[in-house]
Amino acid sequence: MVSEQHSDAPTAVIGAGLAGLAAALDLAEAGREVVLFERRPYPGGKAYSFSDPRHEVVLDNGQHITMRCCTAFQDWIERIGCADIVRYQSDLEVAVIDPEARGRRVSVLSGAAAGGLRRLGLSRLPAPFHLAPSLIGYEHLSIGEKARLGLALQPIRRMGEAERLALDSQSFAEWLRAHHQSERAIERFWDLIVLPTCNDRSAEVSAAQAIFVFQRGFSRDVDDANIGLFRRGLGEVAETAMRRLCERGVRVESHTTVRGIEMRDSRAAAVRYGREERIEVGAVVSALPPQAAHDLIPADWRSREPFWRLAQHEVSPIVNVHMQWDRSVMSREFVAVLDADAQFVFNRSQIHGWATPPHWISVSLSGAHDLVDLPQPEIVERVERALRRSLPRTDGATLLAARVVKEESATFRPKPGMHAHRVGPRTPITNLALAGAWTATDWPATMESAVRSGHAAAQALINGGESES
Ligand SMILES: Cc1cc2nc3c(=O)[nH]c(=O)nc-3n(C[C@H](O)[C@H](O)[C@H](O)COP(=O)(O)OP(=O)(O)OC[C@H]3O[C@@H](n4cnc5c(N)ncnc54)[C@H](O)[C@@H]3O)c2cc1C
Repeated sequence: MVSEQHSDAPTAVIGAGLAGLAAALDLAEAGREVVLFERRPYPGGKAYSFSDPRHEVVLDNGQHITMRCCTAFQDWIERIGCADIVRYQSDLEVAVIDPEARGRRVSVLSGAAAGGLRRLGLSRLPAPFHLAPSLIGYEHLSIGEKARLGLALQPIRRMGEAERLALDSQSFAEWLRAHHQSERAIERFWDLIVLPTCNDRSAEVSAAQAIFVFQRGFSRDVDDANIGLFRRGLGEVAETAMRRLCERGVRVESHTTVRGIEMRDSRAAAVRYGREERIEVGAVVSALPPQAAHDLIPADWRSREPFWRLAQHEVSPIVNVHMQWDRSVMSREFVAVLDADAQFVFNRSQIHGWATPPHWISVSLSGAHDLVDLPQPEIVERVERALRRSLPRTDGATLLAARVVKEESATFRPKPGMHAHRVGPRTPITNLALAGAWTATDWPATMESAVRSGHAAAQALINGGESES
């Protein structure tokens, strides 16, 4: 194997999101000299924290969760030394509230029955049947709708890789309808999982992408879907990674925008950055969102395979509303709400152990195409109304303050037909590797996808980029 680094020139990693951080660490640990460029003054990309000085709390740009099946992310935070930031559920448990039902009805989706049996040493129901007892008790669907869930869950469980990928041109909603799922079941069960994981509803998401989520999260091991919550500000993950990189001698150029990649003999030869600076490089990892990566590719390569595909990507927004209430308005750590203006509500005070009032919650609104352009006060008003409909404890409680964080380009959009446009890590420019949650990892836009892509890009350079992936 030819290692993809010329002479003594360093490898440039562009972007200090989780993909770039993971790639930089692998390269440094493989003995490479690495320069990491980040446009912002801080690392983390789409996963960062900020302090709200008015209220003396640390908030995340967006509430993040992880799941047990996200093993690359888990291994990576163990490796950098901050695994204790995540606390996993011992069994999957998601309370789902229907604000329209009398008494704001709550149903709990859970893998606990199998977990309980397991702890008693009794036989266990294999995944996905571990969810069956809670699905039978799931009150937000009719008996007929619940009975028909199996008509889609079974084929998903049995489906092979080729069959799954052949479904990329259709939406998951189309596939679900063909498998006897009603619009109500799509909205009240399937989208409960598709919307937060794929950042769009089933009608907008490729069937291949959504089916991947159900196979990976719910069909293999009973613990795969157990949710991991961050006990401290998410920014700690990227900051810890940055410290490990500095210990490994990585040169970090933060608050520095890369402006272009120069080519020589069909290889990446230099990186232009800052005002008018330039560095000769032996290899490059582009760990950027697809449009930004496309813009950095030298102009005469942009329309070639596979680089033109980067420009085909669209984005999907997420809006987070961090709210401060005068008292506790929920008892659980988080709940799902069958209301587009509430979706997932996280009890930040409880998760972070902030014992004293005021009480902080974060409302995470995925696929927020209708909300993202609204003025902040209107968003807060809509979310407050939705919470008052769904959380009984808001009766008589006062909303003291709210902070809206709009991430207009939160994730790539996994529309039907996008699989072919998820490319990398290898490219025809053999010393240029692509990383980023949007690259060809199969995973939706997650921290898991970002970390996997970073490892893959580093590996492509370490092993040599000659062969196609
Ligand atoms: C609100 C929100 C909620 C989310 N919730 C979850 C969740 O619950 N669970 C989950 O797993 N995932 C979640 N995600 C997705 C997850 O955060 C992302 O998939 C992941 O962090 C993307 O990492 P990345 O490194 O691929 O890209 P990015 O994080 O986009 O990193 C790219 C980096 O490149 C830098 N950059 C751009 N242009 C240049 C340039 N020219 N020069 C130098 N630097 C440049 C950017 O500043 C950025 O730091 C969420 C995302 C958001 C926004």
